[in-house]
Amino acid sequence: MVIFKKISDLQDYLLKLRATDSRRVGFVPTMGALHAGHISLIGRSKANNDIAVASIFVNPTQFNDRSDFDKYPSSVDMDITMLVEAGCDVLLLPSEQEVYPEGDQKMQSYGFGYLDNILEGAQRPGHFKGVGQVVARLLDIVNPDFVYVGQKDYQQCIVIKNLIGLLRKENEITLMVCPTVREADGLAMSSRNRRLTEPQRAIAGLLYQCLVSIQAKQIDSSFKIVQKECLDLLAEKGFTPEYVSLADAGDLSLLEEYDKSKKMVALVAAKLGDVRLIDNLVIN
Ligand code: AMP
Repeated sequence: MVIFKKISDLQDYLLKLRATDSRRVGFVPTMGALHAGHISLIGRSKANNDIAVASIFVNPTQFNDRSDFDKYPSSVDMDITMLVEAGCDVLLLPSEQEVYPEGDQKMQSYGFGYLDNILEGAQRPGHFKGVGQVVARLLDIVNPDFVYVGQKDYQQCIVIKNLIGLLRKENEITLMVCPTVREADGLAMSSRNRRLTEPQRAIAGLLYQCLVSIQAKQIDSSFKIVQKECLDLLAEKGFTPEYVSLADAGDLSLLEEYDKSKKMVALVAAKLGDVRLIDNLVIN
């Protein structure tokens, strides 16, 4: 695997490779502290492209909470070993100065309409502005044919899809949304999971159980009732729930009730101590 810290070096390298041959580039942007979820994306990128590129950059502009950024886990040496084992060809490991040479304020920013104000957008003001900034910059640098992202961050997937449209790159870049990789108890793998204490980790699978119950009870229950059950159960077990919501799986417009005429997604966010966890499940 070739590692680049300088963006211009990576661009020269990819340009040379692509000049000799029309090589397909698959790209997996990450914030590091890699786990099997990230590696599943690398596996798909590797299988379907000639060059698998990954990036590790903990983007400060998408953290509305400074302490969340400060505590974000980092394990670059281990990450590199995992990427090599997964067959990743190229890693971009840039500094903040490389990504935002003129500071992040001067970067073009993108708005995503109501997506900026619901669910993650509501809980983390400015989050998707930061995501849009960094993803636009990374797509411009790598110029991939395919981008691989995880369904775990459902709203982010829709935001990135919209961003590709706003950048007028929908004919050049295909977004590939890949399934959420879970632990044995259903907990969605996340870099933040490593910050859970043992007792917190022991109950963290409850988030997924809530999603499964929302799915199961659509047959004979009202979503409002199931939503309240989930919020109460999470609070009782020691979570601080932020939302338990139901939305149209296509555009993420929020639903008050189950609507069998639509493909639906259930989404949850809750804190355990100061560790914020999110998850979702497409339920029909
Ligand atoms: P992050 O490093 O958290 O920014 O994630 C980088 C990419 O990995 C994003 O597209 C995430 O949605 C994806 N990802 C994170 N966790 C998982 C998981 N458990 N399963 C599949 N993809 C994931």
